[in-house]
Amino acid sequence: MSDSYDVIVIGGGPGGYIAAIRAAQNGLKTGCIDKWVNHDGSTAFGGTCLNAGCIPSKAMLESSEWYERSGHEFGDMGIKISKVELDLATMQKRRAAIVKQFTGGVAQLLKANGVTAYEGAATLEKGNKVTVEGHDGKKQTLSAKNIILAAGSVPVELKPLPFDGKDIVDSWDALEFDSVPKRLGVIGAGVIGLEMGSVWRRLGSEVTILEALDEFLPMADAQVAKEAQKQFKRQGLDIRMGTKVTGAKKGKSGITLTYETAKGKETLEVDKVLVAVGRRPYAEGLLGKDTGVKLDQRGFVEVDEECFTGVEGVYAIGDLVRGPMLAHKASEEGVMVADLIAGKVAEVNYEAVPSIIYTAPEVAWVGKSEQALKKEGVPIKTGSFPFAANGRAKALNMAVGMVKMIAHKNTDEILGVHIVGPFASELIAEAVLAMEYRASAEDIQRTIHAHPTLSEALHEASLSVDNRALNTVNRR
Ligand code: FAD
Ligand code: NAD
Repeated sequence: MSDSYDVIVIGGGPGGYIAAIRAAQNGLKTGCIDKWVNHDGSTAFGGTCLNAGCIPSKAMLESSEWYERSGHEFGDMGIKISKVELDLATMQKRRAAIVKQFTGGVAQLLKANGVTAYEGAATLEKGNKVTVEGHDGKKQTLSAKNIILAAGSVPVELKPLPFDGKDIVDSWDALEFDSVPKRLGVIGAGVIGLEMGSVWRRLGSEVTILEALDEFLPMADAQVAKEAQKQFKRQGLDIRMGTKVTGAKKGKSGITLTYETAKGKETLEVDKVLVAVGRRPYAEGLLGKDTGVKLDQRGFVEVDEECFTGVEGVYAIGDLVRGPMLAHKASEEGVMVADLIAGKVAEVNYEAVPSIIYTAPEVAWVGKSEQALKKEGVPIKTGSFPFAANGRAKALNMAVGMVKMIAHKNTDEILGVHIVGPFASELIAEAVLAMEYRASAEDIQRTIHAHPTLSEALHEASLSVDNRALNTVNRR
């Protein structure tokens, strides 16, 4: 096998492996290198998303939600279960099996598409060369006309709370706890804090989340964030806003966290701490000498709208570059770059990247929030519809939350859709498609939505934009 390629991708996460597959589909000779090593020492493609992120967290979210529902809600629905018991070992085995199936699937897909896979750490060298150090320590040099950097991200560590892999942990360790911590402290009420906090609360932990900011989920629409916060509080998640953690001390009775609030110093005793204060781009060992690839102040590889680094033939995608750290954003950038390299027209519509928090209720949005649009001075009209008035949500016993739609006051173009409620993660797809086609609220109003479905809430929200919702009382 020759060591020279049309495209080499460094990183086999959802950015990298998708870029490699598309490049190969475009007829380009492609290699993909990944250095991932699991906690049990096995290696795998799939990156953070498949091994330690999206996929295992959703497996645990689903299992824990069914556990909680069967214990607390089935009775209301007329289903009597004499005893609901937690079998965490089986739950964890299921998570691990799902991960193994999907990461194995990536390896098969790479092979089936003719992509040469390398396991080991890669470094970009000057002159479009890549050195690879295999897990066995053997080194080789490859060359490629085009190189796509897709090395992803790692969790941010807090100085007063260094990770120890056991008691003070990151999200990967928190996915793999083999017993339910009695008291779990979570630092950061962001996406990971809320998702993982929900998992362990449902399984029996007393969860306290310490968040530095005063505002809950500032990136979401304020109305939706307020509703979500209310629901999480009702469920027993103790979210303390405006806190600054200053230290952690291990003792016989657990870990004592000290933190500051506007009221002064406070302490919290917990058994485990999950630190979820964001992730940072991961470029350690990635760039050799004088490659010309630049990192910005926060460590992201600098790229333009087309993910081009400015160095001939070198691109960077996914969590390693600006923009939201989301798997689908990484994949779309991978597809775009692989198509651009093949001489095709391609772009990513950054205005239509959906964000989802897979809690219960789920939170999902696309486009801009009301507060952001008002700040920009854009004339808007808004409409909303509560799931309490949606028949399917009632039947599901999940009738909380709402759909909110924001459209331009003059053109009627949809500028944002924000959902807190059942299956928001699935419902948002219609809104993304609408925004991709620059649809108006009226376009959704004129679209027939089957009855009874959750999607009718989106339909009604679009009608509500013009004060003509049919199944709720309009403002006026
Ligand atoms: P990664 O998936 O991080 O992959 C990078 C790969 O590059 C890794 O496999 C790494 O081993 C490899 N690598 C790094 N450096 C080198 C090198 N020098 N040589 C060789 N290989 C290298 N996003 C969503 O959209 N939906 C979700 O539900 C979701 N849930 C998440 C849950 C958790 C707990 C976490 C932590 C993240 C979650 N994310 C989710 C975010 C998502 O995982 C990332 O946005 C996504 O994985 C980024 O893809 P990537 O390909 O850029 O990087
Ligand atoms: P995040 O940015 O979503 O949330 C971090 C939170 O920690 C913020 O609210 C921040 O204000 C807070 N914080 C920061 N420093 C703090 C401190 N010292 N003390 C207390 N609070 C502090 O980050 P995350 O939850 O760690 O997730 C990382 C990335 O992974 C995100 O960018 C997210 O997009 C991605 N992710 C996505 C999903 C999903 O799509 N469902 C799930 C998990 C992770």
